[in-house]
Amino acid sequence: MRKLIIANWKLNPLTLASAQQLAASVGSSKHEVVICPPSAFLAQIKVPILGAQDCFWKLKGPFTGETSPAQLKDLGVRYCIIGHSERRALGETDDMVAAKLQALLEQGITPVLCVGFGTTVGEDKLDVTEALRPQLDSALRDTDPKKVVVAYEPVWAIGTGKPATSEHAEQIALFIKTKYGIEKVLYGGSVNGVNAQEFLSQNHIDGLLVGSNSLIPDEFNKIITS
Ligand code: PEP
Repeated sequence: MRKLIIANWKLNPLTLASAQQLAASVGSSKHEVVICPPSAFLAQIKVPILGAQDCFWKLKGPFTGETSPAQLKDLGVRYCIIGHSERRALGETDDMVAAKLQALLEQGITPVLCVGFGTTVGEDKLDVTEALRPQLDSALRDTDPKKVVVAYEPVWAIGTGKPATSEHAEQIALFIKTKYGIEKVLYGGSVNGVNAQEFLSQNHIDGLLVGSNSLIPDEFNKIITS
């Protein structure tokens, strides 16, 4: 079954030449594969589907250093990650994430809403859903949930080499779909070439958000051919 796999390169690599080389190393896949390079390289990366790692909630004006969803649209960006735990850790609030989501929808860019920041409690389902609820309630208020992709990323699994179990990710994906009417839920957190298949074979996990291993061509190609 065709799933959605999103590569989040974060603040890597350091040169345009390396970024172009990395983009060229992405093989073919039966899945929909989206590459999110750093914003500085967005205009010069050639991939079938381009994504962004973040955006601002206003289209233009006196906002030094920000990136407009309209500029992303002009560059051909089709998906944009928002609410990543690394941005929430820098002070991004649920209200900011909600505003970004609306701005993206107005530009016809699909928001990839990351939830999971604060879920340091482990895999107990009740604790996790309680932590996710305010993030989902705030971002999805007055929104057509069918236009939004949600990525469940438990913060304790991101970049740690300790993924959630596929059973846990599946339970949370089901919760997000049933309670919020979301049609596509991704899992992210220490996905690699070995465990990708296990996540992708779950009924309610519609794809993956991949950080560290999207920078390693062999590993990423294993993931997208899972
Ligand atoms: C991420 O940062 O979104 C992520 C999933 O990272 P990693 O794959 O490195 O855990």
